[in-house]
Amino acid sequence: MRPLKLYNSLTRTKDVFTTHEEGKCSMYTCGPTVYHFAHIGNLRSYIMEDVLEKYLRYYGYDVKRVMNITDVGHLSSDADEGEDKMLKGAKRENKSVMEIAKFYTDAFFSDCEKLKIKTPDVVEPATNLIPEYIEMVSRLLENGHAYIAGGNVYFDTSTLEKYYVFNDHDEEDLKDGVREGVELDTNKKNKADFVLWFTKSKFEDQALKWDSPWGVGYPGWHIECSAISIKHLGEYLDLHCGGIDNAFPHHTNEIAQSEAYLGHDWCKQWFHVLHLNDETGKMSKSKGEFLTVSLLEEKGYNPVVYRFFCLQSHYRKTLTFSFDALDNANVAYEKLVKKIAALKEDGPIDEEAKAPLRERFNNSMCNDLNTSMAITALYDVLKAKTNDATKLSLLEEFDRVLSLDLLNAAKELKEKEADIPQEILDLVEERTQAKKEKNFARADEIRDKLLAMGITLKDTPQGVEIIR
Ligand code: AMP
Ligand code: ZN
Repeated sequence: MRPLKLYNSLTRTKDVFTTHEEGKCSMYTCGPTVYHFAHIGNLRSYIMEDVLEKYLRYYGYDVKRVMNITDVGHLSSDADEGEDKMLKGAKRENKSVMEIAKFYTDAFFSDCEKLKIKTPDVVEPATNLIPEYIEMVSRLLENGHAYIAGGNVYFDTSTLEKYYVFNDHDEEDLKDGVREGVELDTNKKNKADFVLWFTKSKFEDQALKWDSPWGVGYPGWHIECSAISIKHLGEYLDLHCGGIDNAFPHHTNEIAQSEAYLGHDWCKQWFHVLHLNDETGKMSKSKGEFLTVSLLEEKGYNPVVYRFFCLQSHYRKTLTFSFDALDNANVAYEKLVKKIAALKEDGPIDEEAKAPLRERFNNSMCNDLNTSMAITALYDVLKAKTNDATKLSLLEEFDRVLSLDLLNAAKELKEKEADIPQEILDLVEERTQAKKEKNFARADEIRDKLLAMGITLKDTPQGVEIIR
């Protein structure tokens, strides 16, 4: 296979992807802050990361993917200022923080399911690993990378040879002030320092607090991702993902504290997804009606069409959402499904014909995950001079990575077009179930019953085809 090249925010070049242990890939994703529904911008990041994970598996890597759920510590500003977002959500809805966390975590995974996003191998809520954060902060204090001031524990960025910064920020900016409009924390020795553990929060009503060697308090936002990643993926991380807004200060601070804790380099490859904006600009959860998967559904869209819309653009380009653009994606998706529905299982698969078509798909994906070119490769399959069975087999293969639900949608369309009575669909479903349960006598009985009604069943890799 050709080398897989991915843009790396750390080196600012397209690098050949390599891992610490051959054939294995440890992958960490910053998860959602569960104080509200995810907007479709957040979900753009998770869709592109999902395609990356699935392509790494397709490429042959044994991937272990870990994601946190931020249910504590993320303040209104990414730079340790303002109210805890979870507390804000709880107040808004008159519920406890844990109720809010449970409700919006479930809502997040339900959105992911609708968008065909696979759940990571490990999902760890931040509140699960308090002892690990305490251990990490203790070591940072011991080895001189942290200090206590005003009751809080801070990371001392001046102790590092280099406080890593990504694309959009340079060290000069950091010296002058972390963020405009953010009031200065006078406890900090250096402007870029950040909180590892809070005890003296300005907000006395912080809902979740734990005992610690530095007093009752709660962790800073960044520590969770370092500790969760190191616990589940070890001291060397192959790939770290997130939306571009996470690059600074969140990921910069993750690198600082992880490397200071471990005493060596931590993660070699950083994958950042550019933002989805709406036509008015930045997406925000604080604007009245914000764009969610449920809103798309209410308006009659199949969520997978939103995934298709995202894959038509490169992850490293800012994408603007509009309903007109989604309508265009919808038309294209329906046409594509119709073309696939017209394909027949017509004979043996031609493995030789597959090779050049597969090559186009891989060339696109290996070129910094060019999903829009990969979709073109998918159209090339439909146009290719080979039989339908070969095309179907390749489409199924590519869709294991793209997850556009193509063959299933085509099957549903065929069934709808055939206008098959519900009674027959129920019998087909019962037969599938009977086969699963190894009740072959019942399965055969149903097949014969349908035959007597003039219906033939054909088992295909995509499911049962109903022929009248
Ligand atoms: P949050 O729930 O705010 O912690 O964000 C969840 C994920 O969504 C993070 O990886 C963010 O970087 C990402 N994100 C936030 N806003 C956008 C956006 N407009 N477009 C794409 N990704 C975003
Ligand atoms: Zn994170």
